[in-house]
Amino acid sequence: MSYSDTTEIKRKKIRPKVATSPSTQRITCPECTNNKEFLEVSDGVILTTRFIQNTDGSFSQELDDSQVLGQVKFYCGDCGADLTVFHKRFLEMLF
Ligand SMILES: [Zn+2]
Repeated sequence: MSYSDTTEIKRKKIRPKVATSPSTQRITCPECTNNKEFLEVSDGVILTTRFIQNTDGSFSQELDDSQVLGQVKFYCGDCGADLTVFHKRFLEMLF
């Protein structure tokens, strides 16, 4: 690969849309106005870990394969109100 190839493939950085005014986009619980603590609860999670047995009988972990089968819920950390409608925004603001 030549030098020019690598310089041309400059990726555009994806910037968070609300970087300039974060206060307008904050998630606030409509029940208790909590805007600090939130809970994410995943249903039906299967944790699978693959192991390889070595020739001496010991095991090496090869990979983790975790699956969320159920729904991912989003709750207020204060009063427990269901805030799943805000979960998408929460993911967008998660860094
Ligand atoms: Zn609340």
